[in-house]
Amino acid sequence: MKVLDKFNLKGQVAIVTGAATGLGKAMATALAQAGSNIVIPDVNLEAAEKTAQELAENEGIEAIAIKMDVTKEDEVNAMVEKVVERFGKIDILFNNAGIVINGKAEETSYEDWYKVIDINLNGVFLVSKAVGKVMIEQKKGSIVNISSMSGIIVNTPQCQASYNASKAGVIMLTKSLAMEWAKHNIRVNTIAPGYMKTELTKKFFESGGGEVDTWLSMTPMGRPGNPEELGAIALYLASDASSFATGSVFTIDGGYTAL
Ligand code: NAD
Repeated sequence: MKVLDKFNLKGQVAIVTGAATGLGKAMATALAQAGSNIVIPDVNLEAAEKTAQELAENEGIEAIAIKMDVTKEDEVNAMVEKVVERFGKIDILFNNAGIVINGKAEETSYEDWYKVIDINLNGVFLVSKAVGKVMIEQKKGSIVNISSMSGIIVNTPQCQASYNASKAGVIMLTKSLAMEWAKHNIRVNTIAPGYMKTELTKKFFESGGGEVDTWLSMTPMGRPGNPEELGAIALYLASDASSFATGSVFTIDGGYTAL
């Protein structure tokens, strides 16, 4: 098989959580362009439906949106049941849905702390568990978790202890699942992006001044990433092109963590 053929996802089925917007949408687009059908479970059904329609029209694949909260186990299980009923299999899972709530640690309420950990870490576990059972039966699957460079380094000067802790958790969950499921022919990897321009970081970039300047001066490439710049790594990890990669962290951050 020639190398470019390994990236072909024709006829495959990929679930990308939180792909209504942002990085999830960009990664789902890359998978769709390689031929994969796409499922978008998201709390924002209206935006998810719009993205699914765009993908189906532009890329000539099947795409569906499902209203789902990654922290609700019954909704997660119902989503997986629906996908198997509709497509008969799940080849690829991207655990992408996530949030950030910034604030000084000493002023963070337990409610806000828990919300971030619940969506960013517990959600990855719940969706992986439900999809993992299907993949174990199939003896095949690729799972890609979206962590962050903030799971590896402290993204100073921002105060976001809950976010950093949740993303560090995603990295260790990735390694743990990779170890447990390699025998079932399921690979589990994580992409750790640096700052990318999306809704999640809009407030930060619009705040201007001190924090943004500090951050830019600490980024060798001197700019944030565009969501589309994750498309190729998403396709690599989803496809057979990465057949010997599992339990690994792929950092894409304009050089921030190299310093
Ligand atoms: P975004 O806010 O643009 O998109 C997040 C999506 O997740 C939205 O569609 C939202 O509706 C959905 N979502 C939120 N809570 C949900 C829940 N409980 N259940 C289901 N869906 C839910 O954010 P983004 O920047 O595209 O971030 C995507 C992922 O990438 C997140 O995990 C984020 O932490 C991570 N990340 C982002 C950056 C960045 O700079 N943008 C950097 C590193 C990592």
